[in-house]
Amino acid sequence: MRKIYNFSAGPAILPSDVLLKIQKDFLNWKKIGLSITEISHRHRKFIKNTEIIEQDLRDILNIPIDYQILFCHGGARGQFSAVPMNLLADFPKPDYINSGFWSNNAILEAQKYCHPNVINVKKISIFNEKYIESMKDWNLSKFSTYVHYCPNETIEGIEIFEEPKFKNKVFVGDFSSTLLSRNIDIKKYGIIYACAQKNIGPAGITIVIIKKNLLNEKKNLYHRFLIILFSKKTNSMFNTPTTFSWYVAGLVFQWIKKIGGISVLEDLNKKKSKILYEYIDSTNFYENFIKKSHRSRMNIIFYLKQKLTNIFIKEAQSFGLWGLQGHSFIGGLRASIYNAMPLKGVQFLIKFMKKFEKKFG
Ligand code: PMP
Repeated sequence: MRKIYNFSAGPAILPSDVLLKIQKDFLNWKKIGLSITEISHRHRKFIKNTEIIEQDLRDILNIPIDYQILFCHGGARGQFSAVPMNLLADFPKPDYINSGFWSNNAILEAQKYCHPNVINVKKISIFNEKYIESMKDWNLSKFSTYVHYCPNETIEGIEIFEEPKFKNKVFVGDFSSTLLSRNIDIKKYGIIYACAQKNIGPAGITIVIIKKNLLNEKKNLYHRFLIILFSKKTNSMFNTPTTFSWYVAGLVFQWIKKIGGISVLEDLNKKKSKILYEYIDSTNFYENFIKKSHRSRMNIIFYLKQKLTNIFIKEAQSFGLWGLQGHSFIGGLRASIYNAMPLKGVQFLIKFMKKFEKKFG
């Protein structure tokens, strides 16, 4: 069905089956006679659907019952503020891991409310490769606190696959660009959050998975939409929710279940990223500077040795390959190959890269 493969970092590619389902149901959702975009969030069929969506997510990620799932507003950046607002009363001096652009932005936000202990974990090997220090070497505070980190830096294409194993720490993860791409052990975290526009659905809804014992009553200092307990009390409906994004997220979860769950996607994601990195490594024409152990499976960064980046982007577009421009913060090229990107799309990209190399190399 696809004529164009979308490698954009987000809003990103959605599964073709999901897009077709949206199209089919768009004007008459659940035989109500209205579009999903017109239906009240108080409609019993909408509410029923949100319950199904929550259960599907719980099944897919194996989320234990002592964790609350919330569907919030404000994107991941909203959570950069919500996390300190909700946790500082119990943990006044948190640890913040700096592994790149997004974790650093979370730090800048937290610094408005507290003095976090900032830990830089970015390293460069003797072979000039970027990597992230192993968690056991993170210089965390001695006392009990929360630790914020970002397991996949979407811009730099660097991923932390290791999961936390600390006793007196509450781990908070910005999983925006890695949630649903691989199995994770939810029990290792206090809070997991993710914006939608990568592996979940269209921009709008923000997923927060929080251990229930962290949902304490807080002083009413901040806007209630960022108070996580309040989202729970209102069943994620304090603001009018981003209904369309929520509904599409539900279709994506159904798609994940249908194709066999996260393990199937994880295998596919390993395969897709492997062939692309292998090709990049096999030639002197393209380069990636990240150590193999930390190469992102979702966001693959590469550079051209010669000054051909703009020509590459233009020619790729006419070949049907979109969104390959690297983030302006670091330049170069970036192929975001989220769950919905089929293997064929990555093979097609490699085919183009080979052609381009032949022409200019
Ligand atoms: N964190 C990460 C890891 C991201 O990739 C992004 C968006 N690219 C954000 C935070 C910000 O998300 P939002 O725009 O939804 O606030």
